[in-house]
Amino acid sequence: MTTNDSTPQLTLGKVYLVGAGPGDPGLITLRGKYLLEHAEVVVYDYLANPKLLSYVPKNAKLIYAGKKGGGLHAFTQEGINQLLVDHAKEGKMVVRLKGGDPFIFGRGAEEIEELVKEGIDFEVVPGVTSATAAATYAGIPITHREYTASVAFVTGHEDPTKKFSNISWEKLATGAGTIVIYMGIKTLPSITKKLIDFGRSPDTPVAVVRWASTPQQRSVVGTLETICDVVAKADIKPPALIIVGEVVKLRSTIDWFEKRPLFGRRIVVTRTREQASDLVAKLEEYGAECLEYTTIHIEPVEDYRVLDQALAEIDGYAWLLFTSINAVTYFFKRLYSLGFDSRRLAATKVAVVGRAPAEELLKYGVRADLIPEKFTGEGLAEALVKTEVKGSRILLPRALKASEILPEVLSDAGAEVTIAPTYQNIPPMGRKEELRDQLESGTVDLITFTSSSTVTNFLTMLDAADDQDLHRLLDTVSIAAIGPITADTVREHGLRVDMQPQRFTIDDMVQAIVAFYRNKAAQAEK
Ligand code: SAH
Repeated sequence: MTTNDSTPQLTLGKVYLVGAGPGDPGLITLRGKYLLEHAEVVVYDYLANPKLLSYVPKNAKLIYAGKKGGGLHAFTQEGINQLLVDHAKEGKMVVRLKGGDPFIFGRGAEEIEELVKEGIDFEVVPGVTSATAAATYAGIPITHREYTASVAFVTGHEDPTKKFSNISWEKLATGAGTIVIYMGIKTLPSITKKLIDFGRSPDTPVAVVRWASTPQQRSVVGTLETICDVVAKADIKPPALIIVGEVVKLRSTIDWFEKRPLFGRRIVVTRTREQASDLVAKLEEYGAECLEYTTIHIEPVEDYRVLDQALAEIDGYAWLLFTSINAVTYFFKRLYSLGFDSRRLAATKVAVVGRAPAEELLKYGVRADLIPEKFTGEGLAEALVKTEVKGSRILLPRALKASEILPEVLSDAGAEVTIAPTYQNIPPMGRKEELRDQLESGTVDLITFTSSSTVTNFLTMLDAADDQDLHRLLDTVSIAAIGPITADTVREHGLRVDMQPQRFTIDDMVQAIVAFYRNKAAQAEK
């Protein structure tokens, strides 16, 4: 067996048929994730969440096999089988990634049969099938002691070339307590008719769940008699599952996924690439769908003379101030590149504007001596002025362009402030069309801003023709600003701030957003 560093114990020239789970990328198995991390070729389907591809090594080959129910096949089934065979024969480690479980209505077995014929080694990794996920995420347990002890999985889309149905609807109608139907949206009228004709009560509750376990999940409820109308009115299209049975009644008690406070909200997150994931993860935890736009790109400055000079005589400084995480990061980069380490700061006190930069600072072995009550530049200035700064030297490593409030207040109080440019914000490029399309479609609920430069860079990226264009794009969208200075920058551009936390942290901002939408929901109920 040949091995290389990236595929330690895995056999090459083998095909791994992996279930991707129903939609939420968190629902793949550990085994599936491990195999993706070591894949050389990945052949993936329409229903496998593309976010899972982030696990795949950068140099791996990604092949989209398409297959969207009822048309638009990127490859025929034979074509897909051939792809798998060819890559395995080249000695590659191939992952065939399929939505849900590969052996439940996924034609996984057909692909394996072909591999067996060709003498190719394979393994199959099960996945969470969409039927159980859709039911669970719609708040429906598919079995329950008081309601039913049996469940059937059925396809609503049999091979159209077949003359006779393989499904014994007659027995199924009253034979299974819960019936879950895949691929049944187009044939829903004939399915409900058959179930009623064969003896199931027309009052039997039915739920239909689209894009289960994703931020786009939608579910509707009716009865065998009414569900076709309900689905038509709500314009529910595939992919969706149909759940028939008394257990659907439990949804009114158990529904949890769609009840999360930010479910159904689309939120634009504008942060630097390095920092976006924290805010996104927290918003997603409350059910939001995040559209990430990296509006700032951080780079070192070209000229470090001021900072280098200050570091050479740092013992003469009473205070070192940090007003952002980036300032901390780039300050230490420069300090280290000069051959120093944190001990260089032994004689100088350190103050930071908030908890996040304080935590960042600790990573470099430095504990902040002062964190103001108010997490703003002004708050920091006030707290420092109370410590009698008259005649003290204060070093402020910061962005090339930044607010002058902090140094001005300190200078007015008699301090000698050195502003040392340490990093710079480079405005964004690209993705303008995508952003404008999303705003124009009216489906964006909220935009979050975490600093003044995210505001100005976002507006640069948006590139509105004039004020009218700007308002047309943004007037129906709410805006959250992390702190007062960011909020002022939003207002300076003629826009409205709808949410602003008391304290200047990501956690507090998320809480303010949650509170805003809870209030809105409560008002809508009145
Ligand atoms: N092997 C897959 C099923 C493939 S058949 C599995 O185990 O889940 C394709 C059908 O699955 C779709 O037409 C739809 O009925 C259902 N489906 C797959 N993912 C879904 C999702 N996230 N939400 C609702 N239905 C889904």
